[in-house]
Amino acid sequence: MTPIERVALTAALPEAFHVMAKPTGAICNLDCQYCFFLDKEQLYPGSHFRMRDDVLERYISQLIDGHRGEHVIVAWQGGEPTLMGLEFFRRAVALVERRRRPGMTIEHTIQTNGTLLDDAWCAFFAEHGMLVGISIDGPAAMHDRYRVDKGGKPTFERVMRGLRMLQRHHVPFNVLTTVHHANGDAPLDVYRFLRDDVGAAWMQFIPIVERSGAPGDATVSERSVGAAQYGRFLTAIFDEWVRRDVGRVFVQTFEAAARRWMGVPSGMCVFEPTCGLAVALEHTGDVYSCDHFVEPAHRIGNIREQPLIELVASPPQRAFGAAKRDTLPRACLACEVRFACNGECPKNRFITTADGEPGLNYLCAGYRQFFNHIDRPMRLIIDELRCGRPAGGVMVLLAASDAELARAVQRAGRNDPCPCGSGRKTKQCHGRS
Ligand code: SF4
Ligand code: SF4
Repeated sequence: MTPIERVALTAALPEAFHVMAKPTGAICNLDCQYCFFLDKEQLYPGSHFRMRDDVLERYISQLIDGHRGEHVIVAWQGGEPTLMGLEFFRRAVALVERRRRPGMTIEHTIQTNGTLLDDAWCAFFAEHGMLVGISIDGPAAMHDRYRVDKGGKPTFERVMRGLRMLQRHHVPFNVLTTVHHANGDAPLDVYRFLRDDVGAAWMQFIPIVERSGAPGDATVSERSVGAAQYGRFLTAIFDEWVRRDVGRVFVQTFEAAARRWMGVPSGMCVFEPTCGLAVALEHTGDVYSCDHFVEPAHRIGNIREQPLIELVASPPQRAFGAAKRDTLPRACLACEVRFACNGECPKNRFITTADGEPGLNYLCAGYRQFFNHIDRPMRLIIDELRCGRPAGGVMVLLAASDAELARAVQRAGRNDPCPCGSGRKTKQCHGRS
């Protein structure tokens, strides 16, 4: 790198960035049928798929040194990261402690399928305040539809065992639930199970969108969630959440939406205008533009050859992040909810718009319906916050307007326009028996 290139790079350095580190690469003890990562094993033929200590040391030091801000997230993912064994993570935490600057806050997180957790793991997580993300897709039948082990056996019971162990050790955890063909039509069953049976206060819902056709073909696998189905899924959960759970259950997509309605960054790359500040680190030290783009064309370097921060701020990575904004189709540019959606993730932009322009997001129909649906309650939430009141005040406001609507529906004739303003007849809307 020439001196002038280094000056230009330094000017572009971000305050903070996120790394999903994969110490076992794509290796996992399970064989979830929709997992997009398992076949990444082919990128490293003959590898033992274990991050070596010299890579670990470089990673931790470059991660901490690369942050100009005082808050650093050390995030582990897979594959299944617990296959590395507990000693690896003890070394990682010790390295962090050795390297951290005074005043720095470090957040340790790990995403796991939960099946290998035991008392030793949980005690370790508790000792270091490690936030554990558990992958679970709902009640047993929905979870076991696709989340199976190498022998095709169900995994629900093992995941629940791990979850209960985390709870016994008071480890902070959240749940990551993928939304697919098998649970997409049962939003409230999934949500109530996670809230009431699992006891989860933090939830992430991730849509499964698997392309199954040839390149250029917009066909998706039968496991994929439908676009409208995903919109209905989010809407149904939102309607329950906004009436009874605001302030006690946190759903990542709803929190992100509230932030966009407030005019501040959402905290989710998929809903931001640009991306590129969340890279993936393979066990070899290879860095890729994103967890969803671990492929040769998006390998931006290796931390044994160039510091992490330089890779994050490199021209190819910045171009990757800017392309999210610069390739939006006209339909998105004119969309009334673009401020919240921003065309979602580029990996899902493979359908054409009504006027034939490529690059529309496969999930568009669902997101558009969902973001329009939540507009009024979101405005109420923001009003509450701006007045210095808790967001939960929205539940009282909605209860009052729901009661008023119920009275108006009772007064209306079955063929009258529905008092809710939908434009449909009452009997086809809120008056439907
Ligand atoms: S490609 Fe998608 S998942 Fe990756 S950083 Fe961009 S928006 Fe996020
Ligand atoms: S809802 Fe559809 S049109 Fe609107 S920004 Fe999102 S993907 Fe684009």
